[in-house]
Amino acid sequence: MSTPAVELRAVSKRFGEVRAVSEVSLSVQKGEFFSLLGPSGCGKSTLLRMIAGLEWPDSGVVCLGSTEMHATPAHLRPVNTVFQSYALFPHMNVETNIAFGLRMKRVPRGVREDRVARAMETVRIVELAGRRPSELSGGQRQRVALARAIVNEPEVLLLDEPLGALDLQLRKQLQVELKSVQRKLGMTFIHVTHDQEEALVLSDRIGLMQAGRLVQVDSAERIYERPRSRFAARFLGACNLVDAVVRARGPGGLQVETSFGLMNAAAAPSLALGEGARCTLAIRPERVEWGLGIEGERGNQFSAVVEERSYTGPRTHIWVRSGAGRFQIALPSHAANRAALGIGEEVLWRVPPESVVILED
Ligand code: ATP
Repeated sequence: MSTPAVELRAVSKRFGEVRAVSEVSLSVQKGEFFSLLGPSGCGKSTLLRMIAGLEWPDSGVVCLGSTEMHATPAHLRPVNTVFQSYALFPHMNVETNIAFGLRMKRVPRGVREDRVARAMETVRIVELAGRRPSELSGGQRQRVALARAIVNEPEVLLLDEPLGALDLQLRKQLQVELKSVQRKLGMTFIHVTHDQEEALVLSDRIGLMQAGRLVQVDSAERIYERPRSRFAARFLGACNLVDAVVRARGPGGLQVETSFGLMNAAAAPSLALGEGARCTLAIRPERVEWGLGIEGERGNQFSAVVEERSYTGPRTHIWVRSGAGRFQIALPSHAANRAALGIGEEVLWRVPPESVVILED
């Protein structure tokens, strides 16, 4: 495998009594869009700042390419950082803001002008070249900040909640553009966010952090579909967590007992759970099949009473009582409406064994 763009080996950082980052090891490949995701205070920004050289680890190693960075100050590292606060120079127009870094590096004028023009085209702000930051909207300022970072052609671009200050609609629009800019440039992006949907939309891979530790690193799809812990299952969207006890082990998985009844789970072969072991199941609400589609008895099928329903536009969330447990189901709203499911009605639900994830904690 080629040299990673960024490699962290057992990196730790404390602030007084607070362990901000604990023993984090990670390789980010060249050209990858990688997101550090986690709740507020879990250490994402501190980790990013150690890659940037704005913070120094207490122990561990930060490498950019094959070079250890223990003695390299921020301004000599082949990275640029885009922050949530745009930090533009208020007295300069857009074009001179973007050109500033190249001027400092004494890049010849012709080359500089070409690169600034290309950066403005990439983030689609050519028509704003002559305006000052105070004459721009939040989204436009964020594009200028992005252009000012990519114009330096860093090997790695670090983004610290770059869309956090924008309203939801603009954030969604810029997410799509950020992804397309990264694809076009083929640059390595490491992005910090506490927004799980943003991380899923943007990232090739996600590193999920909890209390200073990196608890799961996987592709966006895998981290959503195959969470390893209760924390990961809950943080990445709605999830039913069900207590279970293993009743039998077969070649295709496990049979477990839950408060709904017996359920089959296609378990990962590495999970060493013997008969009688307690475990937690994670089942995404949209993985549940609903009464109308269920024909005949195919296992993992239960009856339930509708307790609550809530319409959210594309999906309708339904809470049902089944056996001794409560369960959340998400249906496309057109299907929920067609079924005309009212509160108090009795229904059948089923979950395919491959959609039952057995967690490690
Ligand atoms: P957020 O999403 O809120 O920005 P984060 O995951 O980026 O959070 P960090 O900013 O890395 O979290 O902070 C991790 C922990 O370290 C927190 O408990 C924070 O209070 C603490 N911390 C961060 N910087 C400092 C500092 N300069 N001095 C003291 N404590 C700090």
